[in-house]
Amino acid sequence: MGRRIVRVPLDFHTPLRKVWPGYLMPDNLQPAACDTCNGSGYSTEAKHLHDQWYGNAPFRPEDNGSTPLTPDSPAVRKFAERNVTRSPDYYGTGEHAIRREARRLADLWNGQWSHHLNEADVAALLAEERLVDLTHTWTRENGWQPTDPPVVPTPEQVNEWHILSLGHDGFNAGVCVKARCERDSLPYVCGSCAGEASVWRDSDHKAAYEAWEPTEPPMGDGWQLWETVSEGSPISPVFPTSEGLVSWMSDPERGRDWVPGEVAAKFVAEGWAPTGAVTSMDVVSGVEFVGTREDVSG
Ligand SMILES: [Zn+2]
Repeated sequence: MGRRIVRVPLDFHTPLRKVWPGYLMPDNLQPAACDTCNGSGYSTEAKHLHDQWYGNAPFRPEDNGSTPLTPDSPAVRKFAERNVTRSPDYYGTGEHAIRREARRLADLWNGQWSHHLNEADVAALLAEERLVDLTHTWTRENGWQPTDPPVVPTPEQVNEWHILSLGHDGFNAGVCVKARCERDSLPYVCGSCAGEASVWRDSDHKAAYEAWEPTEPPMGDGWQLWETVSEGSPISPVFPTSEGLVSWMSDPERGRDWVPGEVAAKFVAEGWAPTGAVTSMDVVSGVEFVGTREDVSG
């Protein structure tokens, strides 16, 4: 759990375990989500293509120049065999179970663009070096290096790779959607928000939003422990001396957050640097400390 020492005035009062208000952007500066794109930033066309990628909007392989998968497609068959072998209680056993699962998978994947890339889609992914599994070779000495002579995978190879290795991630989806929009002269980003996904009341609002910076608590002579898991909130009283804070941290009353006195002293000493009022540092809780004594005291 992240902890840091903050030097604040002795009479500093702000609620414990509540994020310091200076770290939170005021509500009236927050932008609203764009209505047109529901806060996605994509054009209607790009949104639709994303949905087709994942099978959330109607898609036909033929429309992308691809051939529908069948239960006999080698990768489909292999994947179905794998599923049935792993979970016979769920799928049943034998050829019938494999055929049924292969049919289900083929139907599912035929509704997803991600399983039916064409040459243009593959070219877009190659341009972004997103098919390293297929274009590079790995060796212990040199890691991933371009295969020599260079390899240009076919759409069939890429589509098979996606089935057997779950090859594509969300980034690949974005690459293919963007390239498709460019090829077809379709807008990629939402026209209302220019792809920002957020809308501001006016230019002053946006300028204020962009100029906003968090305000640190006031500096002073006191010593206080803050947690840094949230934006940052005080979790101890303010002590006039570092020793006071050390005693508090190593008091058994701290329960799970208890730390031994020498650890607390080291942390307080290092968690405060004269060049700045605030220095971040992690300290382990008493429970975690048991297993990491060497690390903490070393
Ligand atoms: Zn928008």
